[in-house]
Order: sequence, then structure tokens, then C-alpha cells
Amino acid sequence: MPSHPDDVAIVYRNLQKYVGWSDFDARVIKELRGEIQPYFQAMIDDFYQTINDHDFTRCIITGGEDQISRLKGTLYQWLDSLFSGPYGAEFAWSRWRVGIRHVEIGLHQAYAIAAMGRLRFSINEAICALGKEQRVDAAAAIGSINKLLDIDLALIDLAYQRKAMEQLHVAAQEKVQQAERLASIGQMVTGLAHESRNALQRSQASLEALLLDIEDRPDALAQARHIQVALDHLHMLYEEVRSYAAPIVLEREEIDAEKLINLVWENLKPSWSQFQTQVEFHYRGLAPCIINVDRYRMIQVLTNLFQNAIEAAGAQGKIRCTVTCHGNSQVEVAIEDDGPGIADGVAKKIFEPFFTTKSKGTGLGLAIAQRIMEAHNGKISVSRGELGGARFSFQLN
Ligand code: ADP
Repeated sequence: MPSHPDDVAIVYRNLQKYVGWSDFDARVIKELRGEIQPYFQAMIDDFYQTINDHDFTRCIITGGEDQISRLKGTLYQWLDSLFSGPYGAEFAWSRWRVGIRHVEIGLHQAYAIAAMGRLRFSINEAICALGKEQRVDAAAAIGSINKLLDIDLALIDLAYQRKAMEQLHVAAQEKVQQAERLASIGQMVTGLAHESRNALQRSQASLEALLLDIEDRPDALAQARHIQVALDHLHMLYEEVRSYAAPIVLEREEIDAEKLINLVWENLKPSWSQFQTQVEFHYRGLAPCIINVDRYRMIQVLTNLFQNAIEAAGAQGKIRCTVTCHGNSQVEVAIEDDGPGIADGVAKKIFEPFFTTKSKGTGLGLAIAQRIMEAHNGKISVSRGELGGARFSFQLN
């Protein structure tokens, strides 16, 4: 992809050869210059009128009339140099810069091409008018100018491609940096979780013994129970960290999706008994819906999605689970709720490890769910659901 004047000059020469550009064309266009110049202003006015007539292009001009008159001046120079040449390295570089500018101002490539088409039309129309008055050889002039415009268009296209490649490069670099950062955080946290596990187990055992000793002291017992809840939470956190860090090795088996989902929901119910969550299950497509998955891992995913949905929906909330079974282990499971949904800007982050908006969250549930789905060659995504809250869905193929 060219970025240096010498590279651009080479590309330009190659494009000239490709369209069959010759000294004859250069001569034809130079002769045309004096005749066509009086038409420039009308072409420029038509060009900016078209931009102004369309929402998609109008928004690019933010500086009002001042900017338009500056841009008109630039377009005049562009047209003038188009007909002046010489069509060598310097010309190639200036045309390439124009292509880059199109990209920089954020004009969509389709509109850059359409805008060029508009100018081409005005130029051809002017040449036809001159031809009718026998002031130029219209056939020769149209042939030569179109070759020149085609080369310009090819350069604009290259400028867009270069920008796209740069963006891909930056995104790839960001991904690598992010992965490195997460890997080092992950290593540290996993080590910490491992080291602390034994200490945690000892604390839990001692606490159990203490609870028996203070059975007759309600105040102390209440305090000790708080410690127990905190230790359980810590234990859960360690298990999630370990689960996230550990490699996923699947033990697949044929499972009835409906039975599995019902089991997960029934197991969850006691922990949310204080909630009056309404739940609907919809099963569509083939029945029974047999899927080839790792039972334990699927339970982990479903438990996390249901738990998040219950929390989001709140005490009187609604949850809908829809299973669409296509056969051959192909299934889509969607769990949606009527909670607040996912705020814009947050959606991108929720699958990142340790991202949480909850005071007691680990931010690992969805990251683990995503890893599990990927291990199954499936995918998990989030959108806004029909109940007004979040809709998490995963597909297995
Ligand atoms: P945790 O539940 O520990 O925070 P998760 O990885 O399961 O970790 O979820 C990450 C974040 O995604 C949550 O903190 C919450 O902000 C958001 N989230 C997950 N499920 C829902 C949901 N059903 N509705 C709204 N937000 C959700």
C-alpha cells in the first residue's frame, strides 16, 4: 500500500499503463484546458449543491458558507491541475493526498465514488457542448479525460484501502495489548486465589467450630454468620477465578436441552425464594431437543444467565427463556428479562473478565460463559429483548 511519494509515483505509472494513457492524451487534455475553464464554476456549484441536497454528505460540511467557499476554491484548483498536468510524480502525489483527505474527513467511500461520477458527468457534458460548437474533438477529449479520472478514482480507492488496513492494524495491536494485560492480571489473580484457598478452607473450618461454641450467644452468632457469608462469597470468587483461568476440556454427551434448562432453573429457585420472579419457557422446533455438550459447563452458562436475569429483573421481574431447536445439535437459547437492560457503551465490556457493575459481582460469569461457548464452537451475544431488558442468547452448531 503506497505511503511515500516514490511508491505513489510507481503506482500512478502502473495505472497510467493500465488505462492506456499516452502523450497523445496529455496533449488532448492540455488543449482542452483553455476551452473548458469557463465551465468550472458551474461544475463546482453543481457539485456542492449536490452535497448540500443529501443528508449523508451535507453533515461533512460543518463550517457553513465560509467552509463551502474555501472548498470551492480547492475544487477549482483540483480541476485546474487536472487539465494542466504534467502527469508525473508530483501530480500523482498531489492526487493521492486528495484521496487521503477524502478518507480523513470521513466521507463514505461510496459517496466519494458517486461524487467523482457527478464531476465526470459535468466534465463530459461540457466537452459535448464544446464539441457541438466544434471547438474541441469531443470523442478524443472524452476518451482522455475519462482515463485520467479513472486513475484518480483508483487512487481514492487505494487511500480508503490503506485507511482500512491501518485501522485493522491498530485494532489488532490493541487486542494484543489487551490480551497481554489480561494475561498478567489473570496470572497474578490465579496465583493469589490458589495460595489463599487453603487459608480460606482453614478459616471456614474454624468458623464452623466457633459457631458450635457460641450457639447460646445470639449477638456473637449473628456476627459469625456475617463472617460466614463473606467467606462463602470469597470462596465463590476463588472458584470463578480458577474456573476462568483453567483450560476448558469438554466432556461432551447427548443431553435433552429442555430437561437441562428445567433442572438449572429448579436448582436456582431456592436461592431466590424471596423473589416472585415470573418465568416463561418456550420450546420451538424439534422435540426432544438433543444437544451434544459438556453437561457441567452448560449448567455453568445457564446458571449464570438465569442468575443475571433474576438480579436484573428484580423481585417482581419477568424472565423469558426461548429455546429454538433446529436438530443435529443446532440450537439457540435466549434468556431475556424486563430489567434495565445494558447501557450503551457497556455492552462491549460485559464479556471482558472482571467487568462488573455489581457491588458483589466478580465480573467473571459472562467471560466464563463466552469461553465455554467458544469451546463448544458456539457463540453468545447480547441485545435488547422484547421484555425491555437484556436478551442474552447463545447458539450451538
Ligand atoms: P457479574 O454478574 O459478577 O457482574 P457477569 O460477567 O455475569 O458478572 O456480568 C457482567 C456485567 O454484565 C454485570 O455486572 C452487569 O452489568 C451486566 N449484565 C449481565 N447480565 C445482565 C442482565 N441480564 N441485565 C443487565 N445487565 C446485565
